[in-house]
Amino acid sequence: MIVRTEPPREPAILLDGVAKTYGSGAAAVPALRGIDLMIAAGEFVVVLGPSGSGKTTLLNVVGGIDSSTAGRVVVAGEDISRYGADRLTDYRRRHVGFVFQFFNLLPALTARENVEVIAELTGAASAPGADLLRAVGLGARLDHFPGALSGGEQQRVAIARALVKAPPLLLCDEPTGALDLETGRQVLTLLRQVSRDRGQTVLLVTHNAAIAGMADRVLRMRSGTIVADECVASPRAPSSLEW
Ligand code: ADP
Ligand code: MG
Repeated sequence: MIVRTEPPREPAILLDGVAKTYGSGAAAVPALRGIDLMIAAGEFVVVLGPSGSGKTTLLNVVGGIDSSTAGRVVVAGEDISRYGADRLTDYRRRHVGFVFQFFNLLPALTARENVEVIAELTGAASAPGADLLRAVGLGARLDHFPGALSGGEQQRVAIARALVKAPPLLLCDEPTGALDLETGRQVLTLLRQVSRDRGQTVLLVTHNAAIAGMADRVLRMRSGTIVADECVASPRAPSSLEW
């Protein structure tokens, strides 16, 4: 008898009993309280929860911006939970693209330079900065400074910057939080498209429940725990979301 078994597929993200407490003693704030979670490669996951529920902390622990105080954080088979600062920096460079609410562009650099400075710092560029900016619809804004760009355009530059290293993991913290509805939808459409084209795993955290409609999977957080984990059979086009 021949028994065939599928080779075990390495999850993109595996969290095992992950806790994070800020401060200590009477001032201790438990931000994550024992999170168990497995995310497959290529999933587009929206993490919902009220302010203070631990969404940003979760993202930062997965992205190696912050370290957990207990449990294991395994990304693409690599256990980063006991890494020191140097190894975390190296892990972030190789593995993670970040998109933040307030874009975090360098104001004295043009759009193209904001993207290319990351290529220079990391020594890893998947494509020239101008090509990445064209891919996010900014071919006509290459030499503009952030101050001359709208919020939506700045967020597109930030997305192009996050793609420079072709990271397998894209982490987005309230990426539409500073944008109006229509611009927010355009940015979400872009995130969905680039992540699909590149087979990236996406974790997008938001307090905006409407955004859950575009996800493959929705996690709901409350007080540092995951209280619901739902798969979405047919995710909606971001252009149809209302808030
Ligand atoms: P969310 O992103 O869902 O709004 P956060 O992850 O930012 O939540 O915060 C979770 C909890 O951890 C909150 O109670 C917050 O006040 C606390 N917290 C976050 N960052 C820090 C920090 N650097 N120092 C102390 N407490 C923090
Ligand atoms: Mg937050």
